[in-house]
Amino acid sequence: MTRYHGKCVFSGVAKGQIKVIENAMASAMQVRAENAKAEWQLLINAKAEADKQLRELFAKTKQEVGEELANIIDVQRLMLIDGDLNDCIEALIKDESLTATEAVRRAGKEFSEIFTALGDPYMKARSADVIDVTNRLLAQLSGIGDLHELFSNTIIVAEDLMPSQTLTLDRAKISAFVLRKGSSNSHTAILARSLGIPCLAHSDIPIDKALEGKAAIVDSEEGILYVEPDEISSFEADKKIERINLEKKSLEEMCDKETITKSGKKIALYANIGEADDIPAVLRNGAEGIGLFRSEFLYLCKNNYPTENELFRAYRKALEAMDGKHVIARTLDIGADKTANYFNLESEENPALGLRGIRVCIENEQVFRTQLRAIYRASAYGNIAIMFPMISSVWEVEYCKEQVAKVQAELKNEGIEAGEVKLGIMIETPAAAMISDSLAKEVDFFSVGTNDLTQYTLAVDRQSSKIDRFYDPHHPAILKMLAIIAENASRNGIWAGICGELAADPKLTKTFIDMGYKELSVSPSYIPGLRKLIREMA
Ligand code: PEP
Ligand code: MG
Repeated sequence: MTRYHGKCVFSGVAKGQIKVIENAMASAMQVRAENAKAEWQLLINAKAEADKQLRELFAKTKQEVGEELANIIDVQRLMLIDGDLNDCIEALIKDESLTATEAVRRAGKEFSEIFTALGDPYMKARSADVIDVTNRLLAQLSGIGDLHELFSNTIIVAEDLMPSQTLTLDRAKISAFVLRKGSSNSHTAILARSLGIPCLAHSDIPIDKALEGKAAIVDSEEGILYVEPDEISSFEADKKIERINLEKKSLEEMCDKETITKSGKKIALYANIGEADDIPAVLRNGAEGIGLFRSEFLYLCKNNYPTENELFRAYRKALEAMDGKHVIARTLDIGADKTANYFNLESEENPALGLRGIRVCIENEQVFRTQLRAIYRASAYGNIAIMFPMISSVWEVEYCKEQVAKVQAELKNEGIEAGEVKLGIMIETPAAAMISDSLAKEVDFFSVGTNDLTQYTLAVDRQSSKIDRFYDPHHPAILKMLAIIAENASRNGIWAGICGELAADPKLTKTFIDMGYKELSVSPSYIPGLRKLIREMA
């Protein structure tokens, strides 16, 4: 038995088999190659694997539906071996010193655009082939290409994972995450929490394929990963799993109770979600609404922009499942660690300070309008509100409201029914906190994003594992800002809530309620415990 150590991101105990994902995060983030030869080799390996997969797919398709359709697969395989796309990828690595991932991404974008621009249906289909084949290569390069082989109870071991990569995993089969890097505030950590999957970050486990398939136990309560555990550790883990299940069971009675203090203060205890599929957990844990629907997750695991209808269906599904309860849809908060290739966001020196959040929507009016139309159309099916992320100035809110008015007028003209939709903003920049008095006059509610508010106030990159200890959401500066925000909301007659991870911190629940916060939105699994705590408060 070998022990490795890490920092608890989500507490729990899980048993399973290890799956090692190599170079996932590094290849996803880096643009310039440090070692061109190594990138070349990565490309060769990825091409060989993609070639093998496409040959197998060709044979299967030929057998099942005939040679004519199978030839489509062969077109993709040939694109990889020779031809302009392949030449372009190779030139970008050799001549421009790009990483293999960045070269495939850029070449894929360039060629798919060229084919689409040619207009005729045959060429458009070739554009789809380019996207398909380059995505296959990117999956290989990121190390997540063979994850269809996941066994149930998989313990994922990786350097770090991008949110888009985490979303593509079959989450029903994952019992724990162990990351060498990773910070407690990254979106992958947030995803692990919202799925209720034990997670360790900053771990000392090597990213070594020799660990693949080995039995392991993650005890994130203790910050330990046991590889090939002995009988005693295995027995202890079983006991802990039983205890955790009993604790969960004892909180079940909290699920349909009111969230109210002994003195009668009611708090809306809402859930954070990334997609409509998260709703069973929301309902199981007794959330009174959805306080943060991270709409960008609907974009992250796709190869192209979701259509208005796709977005509409996702919101409608959430509203119908919530059956009249409040659903707050945050508009796209893409950028920084949440990226999708098709947005073609340029690499930036400081992505957290770059084109992200509402700025992406202001720069891409059409993308913004598509979302707003989808949300307004869905509003006929339930109680939906919109909130805008990463606001720092009043003019940005004015811009959002102008777009909303245009969309409302457009839908009315088209005879499409829409319900009433309240408008709110996230307060997650120090600027927004400091001008919250003016911002409150523009909107119906505030929701504080403490994850980013902490990052921007303390000047600590929330993604960086190296400086995790400097990331302190309890810092007096954050608590002062939280008090100012609640005060300005109340003075202007609007409500304020918190939807960052801090909202789930039981040490601060009383402080938040005393400050005047009316809503706390947290990962579903935290709801029963928080409700119990609030009900026991004076
Ligand atoms: C936040 O910043 O606190 C927040 C809720 O948004 P996200 O974590 O998605 O950036
Ligand atoms: Mg945020």
